[in-house]
Amino acid sequence: MTDTIDDLLPELVRFRRDLHAHPELAFGEHRTAGLVADALRELGLEVHEGVGGTGVVGVLRHGEGRAVGLRADMDALPMEERSGLPHASLFSGIHHGCGHDGHTAMLLGAARHLARTRGFAGTVNFIFQPAEEGKGGALAMVKDGLFERFPCDAVYALHNWPDLPAGQARTRPGPIMAAADRFDITIKGRGGHAAMPHRTPDAVLAASQIVVQLNTLVSRRIDPGESAVLSVTRIEGGHSHNVMPAEVALTGTVRSFDAVSQDAIESALKDSVEGLCHAAGCEADVVYTRYYPATVNTAVEASLALRAAASVGLVAEVAERPAFTSEDFAFMLRERPGAYLWLGQGPRRTGEADYRPLHHPCYDFNDAVMAHGVRWFVAVAGLELAQVPRLA
Ligand SMILES: [Zn+2]
Ligand SMILES: [Zn+2]
Repeated sequence: MTDTIDDLLPELVRFRRDLHAHPELAFGEHRTAGLVADALRELGLEVHEGVGGTGVVGVLRHGEGRAVGLRADMDALPMEERSGLPHASLFSGIHHGCGHDGHTAMLLGAARHLARTRGFAGTVNFIFQPAEEGKGGALAMVKDGLFERFPCDAVYALHNWPDLPAGQARTRPGPIMAAADRFDITIKGRGGHAAMPHRTPDAVLAASQIVVQLNTLVSRRIDPGESAVLSVTRIEGGHSHNVMPAEVALTGTVRSFDAVSQDAIESALKDSVEGLCHAAGCEADVVYTRYYPATVNTAVEASLALRAAASVGLVAEVAERPAFTSEDFAFMLRERPGAYLWLGQGPRRTGEADYRPLHHPCYDFNDAVMAHGVRWFVAVAGLELAQVPRLA
């Protein structure tokens, strides 16, 4: 049955390249969402637009049974494309540098295949979400009642993964992507003459001590069995050789995989800043922002995701470790069991001349793996819906 997916590929590749040429930013995916909604309607699906902003949900029902959610993200990045490809972005400063054009096309391919074959009993909800890149489109859909309006026993997504060769797939039970937090610290002295430091709190010195202290938090305040990252990425203050500035600003990021570590870092960071500023006679202002939580797969669904990948001929293995990048599918996984899969994009490998990481100005989804993603989504739906319906 999966062989018929091959017939869909030329049209899916054309569709994907059209999206690539017409990228849209977070919550501005009007053209993309419109094309997706039209395509789903043509297939006879029940289509809901404007879910969580520009999100689209297509519902395919066939008999009684469980319900599964399959998710793709539709947004591009605010960056210049430099690929020089015939289907390169037509818009300056917007680029499908994360391959979400491929995700959208693959999920649409799965919808086409399942709509015409209907070899399942139950409901498939095709979830096309806006704004994965930093704006939390998944959370917007969840807040808009995604899972109340479209109940799902489990939810699945994939990401094209350039560090993995084509034909391979990885996921793991537990965390697969990190929580991403940001901190902005303002250290307030008073400002004064640099020749009279005894009369002025030294915000530069306090900032320096804070940078050093923050770099000890992961090693000293987190369980050694867990992992986390804290990086100070900006330090700004002063403009002269003989003036002590009134303020110094620090910014940085924190990545973690579990709520205990995340809470511990946030509270230790605030304590450190407050204590060091107090000792230096400065005041501190700390804004700690949690963007995305960790993306945490449930064990049963991670195993199903790998079985689905293996069943369509992919080399499917448990990922040894999670990635420190983050992903807003995390918000959906907080609500429902599910799993997130890395789909190999190779043959490009790290170190080879044509290797392009995600978010590279020349990044382009590899159309050669389009069929892999379509088949995986179809196989996931098949395995999920073949299970005994859950008791309400
Ligand atoms: Zn991205
Ligand atoms: Zn992405």
